[in-house]
Amino acid sequence: MKIICVGRNYIAHVHELQNEAPSEPVIFLKPDTALLNPEQGFFIPEFSTEIHYEVELLLKIKKVGKYIDRKFAHKYYDFIGLGIDFTARDLQQQLKEKKLPWEKAKAFDGSALVGSFVNKTEFDNLKNINFSLLKNDVVVQEGNSAHMIWDFDELIEFISQYFTLKTGDIIFTGTPAGVGKIAEGDILKGFIGNREIFQIKVK
Ligand code: ZN
Repeated sequence: MKIICVGRNYIAHVHELQNEAPSEPVIFLKPDTALLNPEQGFFIPEFSTEIHYEVELLLKIKKVGKYIDRKFAHKYYDFIGLGIDFTARDLQQQLKEKKLPWEKAKAFDGSALVGSFVNKTEFDNLKNINFSLLKNDVVVQEGNSAHMIWDFDELIEFISQYFTLKTGDIIFTGTPAGVGKIAEGDILKGFIGNREIFQIKVK
């Protein structure tokens, strides 16, 4: 399986990192070795002193597709999840300045936390999904899918022009504003609505 991530999909987050608003989705990949087992915790890697959390809604792809029209995109996922795109912000900043790819900062081992999934039939409206991240029981990020620049179906249409989607692939749909640094001992909890989706300790 592969993990496909969307950058800059919430305008308030684009501004907080002083990036330009994109004219099309920013896409990057994480390999399957980036998947993190929540029970083991997240270990801060030795190559960074500034790891950021980015909480994001996830889509789990249920069948193979290429050049998927947005009208049919909803047939390619049944489950919505929540996860964290862990980012070595210091390293990413250096790479961005040199106009180099971000992989070392975004796709390292353990950089993709995938929490549990919720059947999409449990939502009244996929364009109105509230989610949040708590750090040590304080809310640090709050988002709603209504504020995405590109919605789930538009993302699937765009991504599948370049990458064949396969069963089990996971799409990280972008983070809202409020990203920040983690430290050893932090407890991160993710919620969709008031349902707890994951909990992880930073080590
Ligand atoms: Zn992200």
